[in-house]
Amino acid sequence: MLWAAGVAASPLAQSLRVPLDRAGRVLVKPDLSVPGHPRVFVAGDLAALLQSNGKPVPGVAPAAKQMGKHITRMIRAQLAGIAMQPFRYHDFGNLATIGRRAAIVDLHGLRFSGFPAWAFWLAARIFFLIGFRNRMVVMIDWARSYWSYQRSARIILGRCQD
Ligand SMILES: Cc1cc2nc3c(=O)[nH]c(=O)nc-3n(C[C@H](O)[C@H](O)[C@H](O)COP(=O)(O)OP(=O)(O)OC[C@H]3O[C@@H](n4cnc5c(N)ncnc54)[C@H](O)[C@@H]3O)c2cc1C
Repeated sequence: MLWAAGVAASPLAQSLRVPLDRAGRVLVKPDLSVPGHPRVFVAGDLAALLQSNGKPVPGVAPAAKQMGKHITRMIRAQLAGIAMQPFRYHDFGNLATIGRRAAIVDLHGLRFSGFPAWAFWLAARIFFLIGFRNRMVVMIDWARSYWSYQRSARIILGRCQD
């Protein structure tokens, strides 16, 4: 199976009437505020920001969570009259599942694959979900999919929009 799923920014960004990148994401300042609007911040997939190494902050969940935390700190700093700080993305590594009981793990030098990687991926995915309820729901859902061989939990169904 070859899957090429593009990710487009929410049309919400266009309504802000601020500079956007090619993918429709807001070109935020290093502190994640919107240029010309120091009290407006953008986090996650909708924010386009280059890291100090010149690479863009990736559109992944850990980056979105870290941005959210940074914005909380920046709002507090604004209220306290403290200088704003640039956002720094901490990349803890990459995990990807590539099949049933198969995954790859790359933790900046520590690389492994197969079942141990899949178990690690599973534990990490559950651990980093936000909230106990979400963890329980996802665990039950994935366990059901695993034992029943039904993939409904992962398949995205919908019509293409022209
Ligand atoms: C198929 C797929 C697989 C992925 N797999 C991974 C993975 O394995 N690991 C990983 O780290 N990341 C993965 N990602 C990326 C990850 O999902 C995103 O980076 C992350 O969800 C970004 O968080 P966010 O809060 O910026 O956006 P989202 O999680 O997309 O949340 C944005 C929310 O805003 C809502 N919204 C949009 N417009 C409006 C509006 N006008 N008014 C009100 N609400 C609005 C949306 O409905 C949505 O709920 C995957 C993404 C996709 C599409």
